[in-house]
Amino acid sequence: MQNCIHLKQKLNHSLECKKKKKIINIKDCSNCKFKDFPKTKTRPKKSSAIQNAERNRFSVFTKDLEHCIICGNKKEHLHEIFFGKNRNKSMKYGFVIPLCFQCHLMMHRNKQLQEAWHIRGQLYWEEHLGSKNEFIAIFRKNYI
Ligand SMILES: [Zn+2]
Ligand SMILES: [Zn+2]
Repeated sequence: MQNCIHLKQKLNHSLECKKKKKIINIKDCSNCKFKDFPKTKTRPKKSSAIQNAERNRFSVFTKDLEHCIICGNKKEHLHEIFFGKNRNKSMKYGFVIPLCFQCHLMMHRNKQLQEAWHIRGQLYWEEHLGSKNEFIAIFRKNYI
């Protein structure tokens, strides 16, 4: 239970209602018409949009997000194929793959493997989503 914003505890532990300007009993507070609670802080818009995108991540490469796309073991992470600056765009377009811990580690250490998936991503784009130039305009790079 949250306390009313007008309620202040004094040093001697008595409670003062700043609205009524008097010492009150906590019981008097519960049906008080001035009772008000601190507004719950709303998160900045951008971060909640990102959180939403993270929650709704999907993959254009597989419907099975529970298993590693490389080795078939249990998925530990969803990896954004275009990460860094392009991470949000990867989430938006489904350029995300499920990976087990080992394969995810390998993915981030192995530039060739990253490149292979960059190419698969761009190929998917050009086949299903738009032109090469549109891809380059959005992801700022031509991988093919
Ligand atoms: Zn990753
Ligand atoms: Zn794996």
